[in-house]
Amino acid sequence: MGVEVLGVEFDRVTMDEAVRRGVAMLDTASPDYVVTPNPEVVMTCREDAGALEAVKNASMVLPDGIGVIYGARILGRPLPERVPGADFALNMFAEMAKAGRSVFLLGAKPGVADLAAQKLAERFPGLVIAGTNDGYFTDDAPVIAKINAAAPDFLLVCLGVPKQEKWMYENRDKLRVRLMAGLGGSLDVYAGVVERAPASWQRLGLEWLYRLGKEPKRIGRMMKLPRFLLCVVGERLRGK
Ligand code: UDP
Repeated sequence: MGVEVLGVEFDRVTMDEAVRRGVAMLDTASPDYVVTPNPEVVMTCREDAGALEAVKNASMVLPDGIGVIYGARILGRPLPERVPGADFALNMFAEMAKAGRSVFLLGAKPGVADLAAQKLAERFPGLVIAGTNDGYFTDDAPVIAKINAAAPDFLLVCLGVPKQEKWMYENRDKLRVRLMAGLGGSLDVYAGVVERAPASWQRLGLEWLYRLGKEPKRIGRMMKLPRFLLCVVGERLRGK
């Protein structure tokens, strides 16, 4: 059974369990996909039926943000730990490298996925980079054809929320891949275009504050966090 937080059902898994399941999905023929909602995505799902449908159909729903962990705790159904999507994929790569598995990187501005590919290839010898494509295409068909020609085991879909979730849901049956994950700005992080918060900030659960300091224009999006917490407290008080 998962843990329901404001209509989104999260898997009750640790990082290790999530990676173990992800690796197992590389051996199944079904086109699985993983989503990693943070509070902003949960709030988007309340307003956007298409986004919710896409999240509900995912094979694994991982709690990306510290806000989701707090929300689940307030609701009295705690989740084991935060499973950030960017780290989930890195742990997948470490396992995949041992078996010479392949990944295709889709998303971000032109050039970023290539740079990320270079850095990941250096960091994970044995990992096969099957291909890359930027995330600013208007026609899906040629991109899908390119991915299918490469036939990767794992496809990272980094198109931002909720575009990436909808894209995976809508195209899952057309794609010749074993597993996909919607990972937001992860390619920017792997490429070194955007820095992750220092480990000490991450440990304190303050990565969001660090990012806000770096990109003050995120404030509008981040206002979803207090709304999220208010909704959670409201549900708790109503005894849901
Ligand atoms: N992006 C994209 N295509 C689009 C819109 C966005 O490839 O049409 C990329 C964007 O360049 C960035 C990522 O999607 O690399 C979203 O980043 P953001 O920081 O907004 O994501 P988060 O991790 O916060 O969901």
